[in-house]
Amino acid sequence: MGCAVAEGLSRRWTDVFLVEKNPKLGMATSSRNSGVIHSGIYYPKGSWKARLCVAGNRLTKEFCLRHGVAHRTTGKLVVAQDAGETAELLALKKKGEDNGVTGLRLIDAAEIRRQEPHVQGHAALEVPSTGICSAEELVHAFARVAEGQGANLVNHATVVRMEPRKDSVRVTLRIGDKEKSEEETIEARCVVNSAGLYADEVAGMLGPRPWKIYPVRGEYCEIRGARAELIRNLVYPLPHHDQLTLGVHFTKTLWGTTLVGPTARYVDGKENYERGRLSIAEFAADAKTMLPEIEERDLQLGYTGLRPKLKAPGEKGIADFVIEADREVPQVIQLVGIESPGLTAAAAIAGRVGELVGEVLVNTNR
Ligand SMILES: Cc1cc2nc3c(=O)[nH]c(=O)nc-3n(C[C@H](O)[C@H](O)[C@H](O)COP(=O)(O)OP(=O)(O)OC[C@H]3O[C@@H](n4cnc5c(N)ncnc54)[C@H](O)[C@@H]3O)c2cc1C
Repeated sequence: MGCAVAEGLSRRWTDVFLVEKNPKLGMATSSRNSGVIHSGIYYPKGSWKARLCVAGNRLTKEFCLRHGVAHRTTGKLVVAQDAGETAELLALKKKGEDNGVTGLRLIDAAEIRRQEPHVQGHAALEVPSTGICSAEELVHAFARVAEGQGANLVNHATVVRMEPRKDSVRVTLRIGDKEKSEEETIEARCVVNSAGLYADEVAGMLGPRPWKIYPVRGEYCEIRGARAELIRNLVYPLPHHDQLTLGVHFTKTLWGTTLVGPTARYVDGKENYERGRLSIAEFAADAKTMLPEIEERDLQLGYTGLRPKLKAPGEKGIADFVIEADREVPQVIQLVGIESPGLTAAAAIAGRVGELVGEVLVNTNR
């Protein structure tokens, strides 16, 4: 997100700095996801997630085309397992249409078989605008373009303190490795907090703030070789209300492998990517509902990612993205809870951030 924001801001302003605590950009959530360019069917009408996903779907594809980022508009199927689930498919179709997603169509079991010969289902919602991209390439392309427009990208720079001044924020950075680090400060007219899993902690540097991020791990398995052909494109189950996510699904990658996952489980730390992973047997059992031919031996463990959830374990409902000027220190723009569809929405979120930054700079007469 930081790279997309830096790209957007550096189109309008000259003194943009992107600071990243890791040695390289895009090592956290932005490169540990499914790479799906979502359409926007799932989110409540009028929410940031709905609006910025629908806009982001178009903007991301345009950006990928313009800057040579590997991507493909694949379409996807959301599959109902029995007649009882058809009403949910229709409700999802209506929700998508309300959000402005076009081309949605209900298909029957025969059409599912024609499109995805190995997938079992009673009916499905066809979503033609869904796509897939190389998330890593996308992050680096945003960074490259931002740099070309004059943005300064600084790695190994951890924000450790923020002190509000009248019309600015004094940001203290720890530069370098822990052992050999030194502190530097930047006087910023405006700061955008897009620290992902740590956005609550960065926001908290200004004083108590209402957000707490709970890391929810998504784990993947991968099907490689000939068996990856069991899936041609993107196939999802219906998202059920008690689930934290869209459900374990199948994603044919740009490299011809098939991802199974991601799962969803609250974990005890923001760096806990691997401890206590699900077994391949558990993945296979889950995957068999839609893909009966899948066997345990077809799967190998893949990577994981951590979602920055704003809902505590057991809390119901969907939290929207937080995209706002801080209520007490408006020269800090807070981006908190940027979970899926954050990759898709990044370019559109960057547009909204540009508007907010513009307001800050006008209000401080610069
Ligand atoms: C399993 C999974 C699957 C997903 N699938 C999809 C998908 O298919 N499509 C989609 O649209 N979205 C998807 N998402 C969501 C998407 O990946 C995220 O919304 C998006 O990547 C969030 O980007 P971000 O920049 O906010 O966070 P990050 O990529 O985590 O970036 C935050 C950066 O801030 C840095 N940072 C943190 N603290 C500090 C500090 N104090 N000082 C300096 N730097 C700091 C971190 O090192 C990190 O690099 C998925 C997410 C997960 C976990």
